Amino acid sequence: MTDSYKPFEGRVAIVTGGSRGIGRAIAELLAARGADLAIADVRLDGAHATAEEIAAQSGRRVIAVEVNVANFEMTQTMAKTVVDEFGKVDILVNNAGITRDDLLMRMKESDWDDVININLKGAWNCSKAVIRDMMKKRYGRIVNISSVSGQAGQAGQTNYSASKAGLIGFTKALAREVAARGINVNAVAPGFIPTVLTDDLPEDLKTSILAATPMGRMGTPAEIAYAVAFLASDEAAYITGQILGVDGGMVMM
Ligand code: NAP
Repeated sequence: MTDSYKPFEGRVAIVTGGSRGIGRAIAELLAARGADLAIADVRLDGAHATAEEIAAQSGRRVIAVEVNVANFEMTQTMAKTVVDEFGKVDILVNNAGITRDDLLMRMKESDWDDVININLKGAWNCSKAVIRDMMKKRYGRIVNISSVSGQAGQAGQTNYSASKAGLIGFTKALAREVAARGINVNAVAPGFIPTVLTDDLPEDLKTSILAATPMGRMGTPAEIAYAVAFLASDEAAYITGQILGVDGGMVMM
């Protein structure tokens, strides 16, 4: 991807779960628009491959960092690695996420714990790991990837919906804490975007999700990336604590 518009020149970003899917699209766009960045993912081989490809496409410095966002110590090490490499962190995109769907009556305790720990605690861990650096230089952009499931609830996803609704509260609370320090915290709530994450959804559920989408189509990872890039840019300087739906009209607040 190439882009003549370079709002992120001189900026450093971390994209968690950036090896593939929506995270990869976000990383590609930020790099195309001038950011140096870290692809922070749980599998280093995947992160390396993506980092190399994005560096080649964009001409930016792109590194791969191994992190399980649910692990507090690993997120601290991730932030230190990025600051050692690039000198700072300007933009954090909390994108890493998983699903472990089942009806509550069948869902295992570990399915609840894994989803909450990765999707919700992961964003807390990563934000905590970078916030001191952002506060010191009085600049930062944090964008959390929530979901329509967190806004509206989705049967079979009590764990996932709770984690994504939790991210909305987290976004607003942190936005209030750090607004006066030049740090903006917002969330994007995607609708149905075909990725590995949604591959396993039953066909009847996909059909009913599409029927509930006024635009009648799925979104693309790039369409999520454009919203994230806006919120991560200086054009969004007066926007904080907001949840931007990118969902074909599925949820209208
Ligand atoms: P995806 O294709 O499964 O990509 C998720 C990435 O996160 C993968 O690279 C995955 O690594 C990584 N990851 C998983 N657990 C991790 C951990 N503990 N620490 C670090 N990285 C981890 O999913 P996606 O569809 O792009 O989703 C990206 C985000 O968008 C998620 O937060 C998701 O909830 C959200 N979202 C997606 C949709 C949708 O329709 N796709 C809709 C709303 C919201 P592995 O290779 O190990 O899996």
